[in-house]
Amino acid sequence: MNIIKNGDSRVTKIINKKKLNDEAEYRLSIYTYLYSEKGRYLIQNTLTFEVIELTEQEWNAVQKIKIMPVSYDYIVKNVIEQLAMSRYIVEMDYDEIKQYQETVFLLKTMAGNKKGLRSYTIFPTTGCNARCIYCYEEGYAVKTMTTETADRLVDFISKTRYNDTVKLKWFGGEPLAGLNIIRHICKALYEKGIPYRSTMTTNASLMTKELANEAKELWHLEKVQVSLDGAKEDYTLRKNYYNPEKHNYDVVMKAIHYLADEGIKVNLRVNVDLNNIEHISEFLQDIEKEFDDMENIYLYIAPLFQEQHGEHCIDLYQEIFKLTDLQNELDIPKSTNGEHQTFRIRTNYCMADNVDNCIVITPDGVFNNCEHLPEAQSWGNIFDGVTDKAKFDELNQPAKVDEKCAKCPFLPECTPFYKNGCPGWFEKCYEYHCLKTEHDMHNLLKGVNAEAEDDDEEL
Ligand code: SF4
Ligand code: SF4
Ligand code: SF4
Repeated sequence: MNIIKNGDSRVTKIINKKKLNDEAEYRLSIYTYLYSEKGRYLIQNTLTFEVIELTEQEWNAVQKIKIMPVSYDYIVKNVIEQLAMSRYIVEMDYDEIKQYQETVFLLKTMAGNKKGLRSYTIFPTTGCNARCIYCYEEGYAVKTMTTETADRLVDFISKTRYNDTVKLKWFGGEPLAGLNIIRHICKALYEKGIPYRSTMTTNASLMTKELANEAKELWHLEKVQVSLDGAKEDYTLRKNYYNPEKHNYDVVMKAIHYLADEGIKVNLRVNVDLNNIEHISEFLQDIEKEFDDMENIYLYIAPLFQEQHGEHCIDLYQEIFKLTDLQNELDIPKSTNGEHQTFRIRTNYCMADNVDNCIVITPDGVFNNCEHLPEAQSWGNIFDGVTDKAKFDELNQPAKVDEKCAKCPFLPECTPFYKNGCPGWFEKCYEYHCLKTEHDMHNLLKGVNAEAEDDDEEL
């Protein structure tokens, strides 16, 4: 056997065994995924993310363990002790969920308890100059932050921040439609000597060359996510701008150049459904021509939120993986598709299960834990602080492991939070993860680099 992808060393140090129990019976761990292709055999440990290539004989030995428990002697006879040492094969009474939870707890403890907020997701406005046919914010009241609220927000940041550079995430609506508020907050932080850096999710249609420079110099903007909808015709139909003369595909392409030229990383999120997907390969080729050297440009293809809940969700993902292969061939740098890197364990799913460190602020100054602003997830506001302590405590508790997740190899990737805490969870999560894992394994065998720019650092 041969390790073809190293595991997360933080985890292997905690869970790997030094010596096997010669009296125990052994079974296959829940946290394994087996994959074979054209006479090659892989096994992944989905807790450490290590991947080992097996010989046919080792593969056959593992297949037997999948069906029934085996003795220590069987493991020795088949020379697969390494699989037991690295926890692909475990003792019958080994409690893997407990081990997983203890590992996450240890990693969090080792990272230290950093008191104070480090990331503020700010909605300067919920208004937008587009009317995307799929906008999940449709129906939200349009509100824009006032300068008074912005001033209170700056006070709130200065009092609640962790003693380090503050991370601001501009979100909306279209955050650039609340440009003056962004300016106002950044200037005030600068004047107070509070170090900050920022990221933004935008349609980019309001970005100009001058603003891109201001974004770099004043907003300390490091990364931008721009949502695209594929080829120009599809984009125009789907974005449905109020003023298409001024705001359109060509303007957005220019804006992307301005941002990238300023050294700001631009992550293009290409939204697809079964109607626009057939034009995406052409679109990828256009992107390759448009951004010659791809400096600071990254791209990922993602299904529309609504499509994930449809009956063709897995068919759509299959097409997306094929297009991602084309993206590789065209050398268009990848970023993670809104999900997290699958090369290291996550101790949190996202900002929403990390309310000690991250907060979402609406234009009214109301707290939330999630950028989709579920109403039931608020516990206070910047004026009165915490008004609902019970809600805060509930959100601050580690999530319970769902019954379905407890039997699933992908729990370390999803975390217990995802299934019952994220509005983005979808029913076919297991099928999707199988597809994704097999796509990664296939690429590993082909020697394709599956690494992608991570769109969010560890929270
Ligand atoms: S750009 Fe974003 S906020 Fe604006 S309509 Fe489209 S999805 Fe909604
Ligand atoms: S959310 Fe779905 S894929 Fe993730 S661990 Fe739970 S059952 Fe598995
Ligand atoms: S809970 Fe889901 S939708 Fe909300 S911020 Fe986290 S990943 Fe995004």
